[in-house]
Amino acid sequence: MTGAHDAGPVLINAGGGVNPDVQALLVVQDDDAAIRGIEARRAALTPRMAALDAAQRRAHERVTSAEADLEREQVKMRLIEGRIADCRQRHDKSVALLDNAHKVKEATAAGAQVEAARRALAVEESELLASTRRVTDLRTALAAHREVLAQVTAEQGAARSTLGAEVQALDAELAAAHAARAAAARAVDPGLLAKYDRVNTKRRTTVLVELRDYCCSACDTAIPLQRRPAMSTGMRIEPCEACGVLLYFPTAPAVSSDLSAE
Ligand SMILES: [Zn+2]
Repeated sequence: MTGAHDAGPVLINAGGGVNPDVQALLVVQDDDAAIRGIEARRAALTPRMAALDAAQRRAHERVTSAEADLEREQVKMRLIEGRIADCRQRHDKSVALLDNAHKVKEATAAGAQVEAARRALAVEESELLASTRRVTDLRTALAAHREVLAQVTAEQGAARSTLGAEVQALDAELAAAHAARAAAARAVDPGLLAKYDRVNTKRRTTVLVELRDYCCSACDTAIPLQRRPAMSTGMRIEPCEACGVLLYFPTAPAVSSDLSAE
């Protein structure tokens, strides 16, 4: 723990001594503030990771959707091919009938069937041609989407490893901060620490605040007259009746604060 804790107020009670509980708890409080700072920096990385994930997901979805489009068109193409085979069979059958027709009436009917089969075949063949073109286009699109996905993945590699390293560094910092906090907490009276922890867990902000002119410096509520003498010894740490923070008297009463200023 460094300079941050040295800047704390000098605590002098009426007898001229420093309140060690307040000092020890202020160290814990500084450590808690440091922990919250690291946690906030770590939380700030989450949207950056989410943005990478979203870009990757979008590129992946485009590939999946292009694959589905291609698959659908290929199924359609196979159906057309099946219908063309049917048309050819009907056509060949009609041609055979026509060849073997002995009567004009039979020949006319068979000729009409040949013509109908030929027309149907022409329709299916033009559909097959269109479908073949669509398959080619969809294959091209799919290849392009796959390329984009590969590009996004490659581009994100560096960003992801940078981000990962940042997360790791912050986790290490956080572990060190928790260890420092635990060590500092051992110097605090357990009863006082429990009181502090209760408020700290709820509020996640500064818990131990000083009295300024017998007012809470968090909410500016004055403490009742009858509590002032006990507080002014500097040895009492009590909750603010208005906002719940823990209050301590930062310096000796007026008489000795003049002395400590020198
Ligand atoms: Zn208050």
